[in-house]
Amino acid sequence: MNNEAKIAYFSMEIGLSNDIPTYSGGLGVLAGDTIKSGADLKVPLVAVTLLSKKGYFRQDIDSDGRQIEYAVDWDPSKFMVCLPKKVVIQIEGRNVYIQAWCYKVKSVTGGKVDVFYLDTDVEENVTEDREITAVLYGGDMHYRLKQEIVLGIGGVRILHTLGLHIKKYHMNEGHASLLTLELLLMHKRDVESVWDERWIWDIEKVKGLCVFTTHTPIEAGHDRFSYDLVKKVLGEFVPLELLKRLGGEHYLNMTHLALNLSKYVNGVAKKHGEVSKSLFPGYEINAITNGVHSFTWVCESFKQLYDKYIPGWANEPELFVRSENIPDEELWEAHLCAKCDLVDYVKKTAGVEISPDVLTIGFARRFTSYKRADLIFSNLERFLKISKKGTFQIIYAGKAHPKDTPGKEIVKRIIDLTKKINDKIKIIFLKNYNMEMALRLVSGVDVWLNTPLRPREASGTSGMKAAHNGIINFSVLDGWWIEGHMEGITGWSIGPKPLESSLISVNDITDAEDLYDKLENIIIPMYYKDRSQWIKIMKNSIGKIAYYFNTHSMMRRYVTEAYIR
Ligand SMILES: *Cc1c(COP(=O)(O)O)cnc(C)c1O
Repeated sequence: MNNEAKIAYFSMEIGLSNDIPTYSGGLGVLAGDTIKSGADLKVPLVAVTLLSKKGYFRQDIDSDGRQIEYAVDWDPSKFMVCLPKKVVIQIEGRNVYIQAWCYKVKSVTGGKVDVFYLDTDVEENVTEDREITAVLYGGDMHYRLKQEIVLGIGGVRILHTLGLHIKKYHMNEGHASLLTLELLLMHKRDVESVWDERWIWDIEKVKGLCVFTTHTPIEAGHDRFSYDLVKKVLGEFVPLELLKRLGGEHYLNMTHLALNLSKYVNGVAKKHGEVSKSLFPGYEINAITNGVHSFTWVCESFKQLYDKYIPGWANEPELFVRSENIPDEELWEAHLCAKCDLVDYVKKTAGVEISPDVLTIGFARRFTSYKRADLIFSNLERFLKISKKGTFQIIYAGKAHPKDTPGKEIVKRIIDLTKKINDKIKIIFLKNYNMEMALRLVSGVDVWLNTPLRPREASGTSGMKAAHNGIINFSVLDGWWIEGHMEGITGWSIGPKPLESSLISVNDITDAEDLYDKLENIIIPMYYKDRSQWIKIMKNSIGKIAYYFNTHSMMRRYVTEAYIR
């Protein structure tokens, strides 16, 4: 058996393919893309996540625009192998058995990464415990804590049982932080007489083993549990005094726990690194900007184009820097091909006929308030007036978390609008956003819109996918776009430049007005009257964005800056 020391990548959600519905959004897709680049680059990596046997949810929308959620029924045995070894952990004093399914990510380069999906749906467990790994982000805090115990503590035990030698544990967000406690126990100093209780805990050793990536730029976004709940569910796994010292005095804050037990910590874009430093003063926080897996996020017609003009691009995305080599006509033809595919797809799935000759704007991501999906409708009168200058259409998609009432209201608002103004501007909402639909959208529209409330977009990645297909970004300057944006060269910004002390929220009106101004005076005229300038920006999206914002580049940075330190 190959027992080379490995990096263990822990993530609550992983999105590797559309058939394995164990992701909810950007965090999971990033994890999947990271693993694929790890395999391509032959990084010694394994990954751990939950099986999420009922997925996140399948989205339907009723005639009133209300989101309806259905459990996803999928069969892991079609894609992965159930390993015979089980581990046991304690939850509420009960033994809970965990099995793992192994999915092998295999790269054409010969690299391989094993992904372990943890599953508590085994005979030995009582009914309640069999449900722990059923629904991604389902249930209440009690359910969430049980899931995080399985992921963190169960995950380390599974790797141990498999005889893997792990040299770094990488926590992708704080959900897996409890793994640090299992490591503290594993590396407890064995001493006869303890003169100081603290001395038996080898905190420095555990820190040396852990890497933590934070993804949330606001305090309220970080998981925290009351100590009453922790005591009830986890028991006194490590002494409470120690846990409070590491995880927070009043609540067990998963981010604090990870921060205190990781030697290397990073945010997911330069700006997010800065924001994280102000959220967590006293910690050294680095920044490694996210990326996307190039081969996964390039549509078929562009794959052919790149194979012809930029051979080797898939495993060396730096080569996109030569995007100027692609002839204009062929680039446009490949784009039209992707656009017509999307037009067909919209017809088939939504029953709406749209034209490939019309400027098409895409907006798809999780529906949650800060993403402001409805910003473009702030001033409906102005919005409708602009369309008289040159017509455009908008395609939306996205799920709101089942408990996110404001997010669901935005879905409803957009559905209502589609009915109200459809005779003037076509607005289409596609149900049940997923990775397959994402690829169609990020390659088939003309403009990719993103309007988050600063500084809430830690990074964002869908705009990088768009750039990989020559789609032009039109976005608020937040997250990765602060780094990728050159006004009028790689795309367009919305609203003011980011402020130094970035925690001030910006006026919706200011942002909307700027959006309208640029749409009316720059984007619509250029699309219809200056195609060659438009194509130049498309090429810049490939040559100045995709060449850098990919998980190959990102992975190389994790290796040199976090893993081998
Ligand atoms: C890429 C992706 C996301 C992330 O989108 P952002 O705009 O970065 O939030 C979410 N969901 C799916 C299905 C994706 O493919």
